[in-house]
Amino acid sequence: MRIGFIGLGNMGAPMAANLATPGHEVIGFDMAPVEIDGVQMAATAAEAATGADVVITMLPNGQILRDVAAQVIPAMKPGACFADCSTVDVDSARAVAAEAEAAGLLAVDAPVSGGVGGAQAGTLTFMAGGSAPAFAVVKPLFDIMGQKAVHCGGPGAGQAAKICNNMILGVTMIATCEAFALADKLGLDREKMFDVVSTSSGYSWTMNAYCPAPGVGPTSPADNDYKPGFAAELMLKDLRLSQQAAGSADADTPMGQLAEALYATFVEEEDGRGMDFSAMLPRFEKRHRS
Ligand code: NAD
Repeated sequence: MRIGFIGLGNMGAPMAANLATPGHEVIGFDMAPVEIDGVQMAATAAEAATGADVVITMLPNGQILRDVAAQVIPAMKPGACFADCSTVDVDSARAVAAEAEAAGLLAVDAPVSGGVGGAQAGTLTFMAGGSAPAFAVVKPLFDIMGQKAVHCGGPGAGQAAKICNNMILGVTMIATCEAFALADKLGLDREKMFDVVSTSSGYSWTMNAYCPAPGVGPTSPADNDYKPGFAAELMLKDLRLSQQAAGSADADTPMGQLAEALYATFVEEEDGRGMDFSAMLPRFEKRHRS
């Protein structure tokens, strides 16, 4: 396939490289100068999209996606597929899909989980929204860049799945960290806390697989001075998207709202920027009941 790939940052660059490895023709574009083995660079986004069977975007936010889509969609050949893998708001995902479909293209929103490590290793999970024929076109590419691709429903369903998952993740991480901080103050040994909770009804991915306490459980960013991993500011971005969507859909999400507020304080007023999102544990440890 001929693939246009726009947005070659921390995630996009290794994803594009993985697509080029089995012999796809990958034409890339990024605002910043980038060089990737096997990827030919174009001078503009429209040039990268011209003649492509699939255009993949991996961009910072919904506004940039809308701007790039406005340049790229008119340049694409009829019947080609526009696949956005960025994490963006559901409204932008749906607007771009409608624009693509109105221009005679297929469209998929397919945000990912698995982070930069997953992008490099080709083990991402894709959550996709769009028509069945659109998903069928991009599925073989998702299988190269990842290990699992779920077709979640129509346009925007991929973004909906992603932000619901990450809202649970943010809320659960906070619950796990505050429980550890309480256990510390009650004099409970952290290993014992892990041993009990990880096999009891308080277990979760954040406790069992990504434990925020250093030296406890499997190796996690806590064991590396809370270097990300998954940065607190990216968690804040996803929580904001979840609350924006909850606002549009009139959904009551008090825990998500509180998680957004806590991560906003941590990132914007404290020392959370650049730290892993599990660094909520040392944050809680330093604090007292207000
Ligand atoms: P990044 O900032 O490293 O990369 C974004 C790239 O887009 C940059 O190289 C930037 O120059 C480029 N760009 C910006 N505006 C552009 C434009 N108008 N035209 C062309 N290129 C443009 O970000 P990232 O970490 O690669 O994340 C990309 C997306 O993936 C985001 O939506 C993010 O939320 C999502 N995501 C990231 C992770 C992660 O762990 N980093 C995990 C899952 C999902």
